[in-house]
Amino acid sequence: MLKTLRNLIGKIFDFGYCPNCNDYWNWKKPGAILYRENSSVLICKECLSNPEKLDPEKVVENLKIHGWDKEKLKLIKKAITDFKTQHSST
Ligand SMILES: [Zn+2]
Repeated sequence: MLKTLRNLIGKIFDFGYCPNCNDYWNWKKPGAILYRENSSVLICKECLSNPEKLDPEKVVENLKIHGWDKEKLKLIKKAITDFKTQHSST
């Protein structure tokens, strides 16, 4: 309930949102994954601390909606996949 309300407020005030969990930056802390030198994609700290929940496909789909170009999306997908591999506990 609270989550829905917070996201609604974020949407109304035009905050961006985490492309992995769709929660808005008005209440989630953004972290970043570097996908190229000096370029990173914002993903919330909560998602970053649960790498097994990161979904490269979903992130890419979400960014595509916002007009990110293909080349960047390819790098991002790889960066997230690598991040998952590096941080998986199993
Ligand atoms: Zn998130």
